[in-house]
Amino acid sequence: MLLEVRDLHVEFRTRDGVAKAVNGVDYGVDAGETLAVLGESGSGKSVTAQAIMGILDIPPGRITGGEVLFQGRDLLKLKEEERRKVRGAEMAMIFQDALSSLNPVLPVGDQLGEMFVVHRGMSRKDARAKAVELMERVRIPAAKERVKDYPHQFSGGMRQRIMIAMALALEPALIIADEPTTALDVTVQAQVMDLLAELQREYNMGLILITHDLGVVADVADRIAVMYAGRIVESAPVHDIYKVPAHPYTKGLLESIPRLDQKGEELYAIKGLPPNLMHIPPGCAFHPRCPMAQDVCRTDEPPLYEVNGEEPARRSACHFWRECMNG
Ligand code: SF4
Ligand code: MG
Repeated sequence: MLLEVRDLHVEFRTRDGVAKAVNGVDYGVDAGETLAVLGESGSGKSVTAQAIMGILDIPPGRITGGEVLFQGRDLLKLKEEERRKVRGAEMAMIFQDALSSLNPVLPVGDQLGEMFVVHRGMSRKDARAKAVELMERVRIPAAKERVKDYPHQFSGGMRQRIMIAMALALEPALIIADEPTTALDVTVQAQVMDLLAELQREYNMGLILITHDLGVVADVADRIAVMYAGRIVESAPVHDIYKVPAHPYTKGLLESIPRLDQKGEELYAIKGLPPNLMHIPPGCAFHPRCPMAQDVCRTDEPPLYEVNGEEPARRSACHFWRECMNG
């Protein structure tokens, strides 16, 4: 396994109390594999990613337990200085909002080139040439001229390509993309996602794709981990999950996908709101919203049951996963 997260816990101390953002997450991704992490906002998917990247170490976010094994090393045990070397060079992150991630007063070519100057000790001139190469790699038209342009001179889709180029620059083994296409319109979304998937295959990188949109992941993910209230509630190969979800929450998400072929049909949206992370409901955290909830769900927290004995295993944190799959 390229990356293995084990029993990760993250808390946020706020004025009003402790928010339990991540409550025992286990997941992993191999080289050349894409893991989609799915869930509503506040489910802990971004916080988990930030903990992996080591960009959470600033209070009030605190890792209170677990391991993040990357190429066999536990990143949580590294000193900040060692951690910084891993970040960017061995693992990189792509964020939703390119405009706030890029420096507005620096030409994009300089920002791309900076990676090579800092990490590879290249001259400015060589770094500039590398920047052009990367911009061509992510198919930015007229890269040679545009290398001098500023972030605001690019469209949203082109800016997101630049973010991908930045992430790829040092050929990391792992990329974490947090809602990389959410801010884009639908046609551009598909182009950017296809590009990301193509480069991921070519470089044989591990990719963790964080999204709240199941529609985005169908074509690109190998596995899906669904998160709710800081836990994984279902994990499965992508095709299995589309065929038969084993958790009522996943089922609700699937039924919320807009269907182009069924115009006018009312979309099923999961009722209610995600829980307050300072007061996670006892038992199954999903029970206040679950159409299948029984008494036991209000008292007993479901473990991640193994749904099949096959490899890769399929898991569901629902006492009634069988009924869910049959219903
Ligand atoms: Fe619903 Fe109960 Fe399953 Fe939780 S354990 S998802 S409340 S049926
Ligand atoms: Mg998020």
